[in-house]
Amino acid sequence: ADIRPRQVRNALFTWVRPETQQDPELLAVSPAALRDLDLAPAEAATDDFRQTAAGNRLWGWDEDRLEGGYPWAQCYGGFQFGQWAGQLGDGRAISLFETTNGRTGTRYELQLKGAGLTPYSRFADGKAVLRSSIREFVVSEALNALRIPSTRALALSLLPHQKVRRETIEPGAVVVRFAQSWIRLGTFDIMRARGDRALIRRTATYLAEDVLGGWEALPRRLPNPDDPVDGGGALAEPPARGAGKDEVEGPEDAQENRFQRLYREVVRRNALTVAKWQAYGFMNGVLNTDNTSPLGLSIDFGPFAFMDNFDPSYTPNHDDHFLRYSYRNQPSIIWWNLVRFGEALGELLGAGAGVDDPRFVESGVADDAEGERLAQRAESLIMQAGEEYKAVFLAEYKRLMTARLGLREHRDADFDDLFSALLDAMEALELDFNLFFRRLSSVRLADLAAEQGRRDKAAVFFYKDGVTGIGGEEEGRKRIGEWLDKWRARVVEDWGEGKDQERSRAMKGVNPSFIPRGWILDEVIQRVDRDGERDVLRRIMHMALHPFEDAWDGQTFDGAVYKGDREEELRW
Ligand code: AMP
Ligand code: MG
Ligand code: MG
Repeated sequence: ADIRPRQVRNALFTWVRPETQQDPELLAVSPAALRDLDLAPAEAATDDFRQTAAGNRLWGWDEDRLEGGYPWAQCYGGFQFGQWAGQLGDGRAISLFETTNGRTGTRYELQLKGAGLTPYSRFADGKAVLRSSIREFVVSEALNALRIPSTRALALSLLPHQKVRRETIEPGAVVVRFAQSWIRLGTFDIMRARGDRALIRRTATYLAEDVLGGWEALPRRLPNPDDPVDGGGALAEPPARGAGKDEVEGPEDAQENRFQRLYREVVRRNALTVAKWQAYGFMNGVLNTDNTSPLGLSIDFGPFAFMDNFDPSYTPNHDDHFLRYSYRNQPSIIWWNLVRFGEALGELLGAGAGVDDPRFVESGVADDAEGERLAQRAESLIMQAGEEYKAVFLAEYKRLMTARLGLREHRDADFDDLFSALLDAMEALELDFNLFFRRLSSVRLADLAAEQGRRDKAAVFFYKDGVTGIGGEEEGRKRIGEWLDKWRARVVEDWGEGKDQERSRAMKGVNPSFIPRGWILDEVIQRVDRDGERDVLRRIMHMALHPFEDAWDGQTFDGAVYKGDREEELRW
């Protein structure tokens, strides 16, 4: 295959073979990924696995007969920091094959990141270093374990003979990663930039039929005759997924065409995922359209971070001078990206039931003038979907925050009285976001009954383990003490008295005792890279995969060693 970086026209991928690597070392494997791919742990111990994970062996490709599945790299574009950036494509990710888990029926596309040049590498080298690979390997699996949709990571290999030039010369690394699809919103952006409307239709159809489970699985909106747009409908509560049966829209079903439903599914999935990011303080750091998945997966892990001390204007990206990708902006930025996606679908949205109209001739798209007219009609539909985006986001955010606070049901007043009041206090007092919820999980209501108890508990949130912020001052204790008072009253309302144990158990199931913080990842990177440690990778992966265990409470990362009770699960 020709791997010279170049502009690739009229194609969304190129066949390309990973570079051959000398003496790759398999550093770590995710036991959860093995399970989800239906691979036996013993398979990961074979030489075949090791060579495949480094790109030396092509699974499914018969070298002698030149038959089977050959690897490929994807082409996509993207809006980076709000500007159209042209062709990006995958400059360093090469997909190997697709595989379906026989037990769950879920199909995944496996790919290597850091396996060498592709036609989309532009000015770069197609390689990845150990630092960023460890970070991606761990966080992909950590997010998934926190029930936040994410692309996944199966294995991490070190390429000891690679000399990758970054600030210094570093060894290379490869991550085997997998997702139901690696299509990005940027995949649609580049087709739109090329004016390839027929391919947009084909790719959108592929997304719906081959990735998202078919048109029937997409949400259907209730007809709303008052809506001026023929795609109108009630936005608040669409019917449950799969409620509609008939797949082909005829004139009697002019309310909403299938591409509109696809668009809304993509919008809804992303709303749910951003709500989870916000509720758990996860920041991607580079939410360009090429780093946004139509499946609502967290995707592309560069300068990501979990929130330490609560600061809504925090961005983990040092180049993000205007805070475009800060915590607070994530919901509106994802929406900005989704509007670009709606614009790419354009006429397919605006046509309503007309997508099957004869004017959409062989190519599946209307002529230019008609296409333009229909694309304009798409605008109001996109805005309507924006209302749905907000509603879905808010509902999910409330659900998660309600659970994190140990409440069983959400009340309107909770939003101001509990959520906002807490977040404002956290910001002012520089409290650790995730630690706060974990600590709150163990608080006994009786201890909060007296003024002194509240003050003592409030102090706990400041002083312990050096996670203090400005804390300790009377002002801070008073503020958290007052908040604890309101929280206690709500908990009693919800649960009654004497339910500390049940509530604590429920809270600990949603409030992690372990998240892969920047400093923990830095420490692991140092120990693997500088000190040659290996077992630390298995341990951090174990913690990432079991983020709610009591065992990690009150421990530093170093102290929280693997306890030896999960030998079976961990041996690979
Ligand atoms: P990102 O900023 O991570 O979203 O990357 C933007 C684009 O640059 C993607 O198409 C990547 O594949 C590409 N890219 C990033 N790093 C490299 C590299 N070392 N070699 C080749 N392409 C790269
Ligand atoms: Mg990217
Ligand atoms: Mg990246």
